[in-house]
Amino acid sequence: PPGATSPMARQAEIPGISAVIAVASGKGGVGKSTTALNLALGLRDLGLRVGLLDADIYGPSVPRLTGIHEKPQLNDDKKMIPLNRFGLAIMSIGFLVEEETAMIWRGPMVMSAITQMLRDVAWGTLDVLVVDMPPGTGDAQLTLAQNVPLKGAVIVSTPQDLSLIDARRGLAMFKKVNVPVLGIVENMSYFQCPHCGTRSDIFGHGGARHEAERLGVPFLGEIPLDITIRTTSDSGHPVVESEPDGPHAAIYRAIGAKVR
Ligand code: ADP
Repeated sequence: PPGATSPMARQAEIPGISAVIAVASGKGGVGKSTTALNLALGLRDLGLRVGLLDADIYGPSVPRLTGIHEKPQLNDDKKMIPLNRFGLAIMSIGFLVEEETAMIWRGPMVMSAITQMLRDVAWGTLDVLVVDMPPGTGDAQLTLAQNVPLKGAVIVSTPQDLSLIDARRGLAMFKKVNVPVLGIVENMSYFQCPHCGTRSDIFGHGGARHEAERLGVPFLGEIPLDITIRTTSDSGHPVVESEPDGPHAAIYRAIGAKVR
């Protein structure tokens, strides 16, 4: 009814954006940002209009992953214009401040920065906005999950026990704020030797699939530990963009098809 204030009011839709998907991980270094960007590109390949918001205030890596080092301009409404790369509308806290500055921010500053990047950006019309979340399950993550109208969350984990325990915490957190978990991605799932083709399960392959089954959430796919993924990421030419016909792009597109 008009005038009613529901507890969901703070979760107001973002005009023009049909769905927001969070990419989360229990801890850092598991490949969350790499997955978020390549997933965004996979969704783009499916014909969707896609944006990417790097909300990882503790270590924004989207500038490195995309090679963008410009600052966003303001439009006439004083909204920031997202940078366009690979056909994605991209915004990162790393475009605005030095990495070291963001790292020392306190909770409320983090929240207001993320809120601004969501709502004071001229995103235009998007079918999906992929949000690269800060790693972990602390207050910043909880508040973010509560403030953003999320369609759901994708959890990235390596097969290792430690990373899985953290991912489990992430699942519990999203459950607490009623955000559906779209599924778990196992990153660095296995290693395929580029020289001899032999496969090695460095971190004990299959842990995330097993965990997903145990917890009753979808298992979205396995991404190998592969030098191509690392070099393309670190040079600003993500693998879905630089090797669109390769095996990795196919994996990310398949994950995109499951969460779209
Ligand atoms: P996070 O966002 O979880 O901190 P990043 O996406 O920044 O992790 O990845 C950490 C490092 O691991 C980066 O150097 C990245 O290139 C590398 N990396 C991520 N996923 C893979 C993979 N599947 N194969 C090889 N290297 C990877």
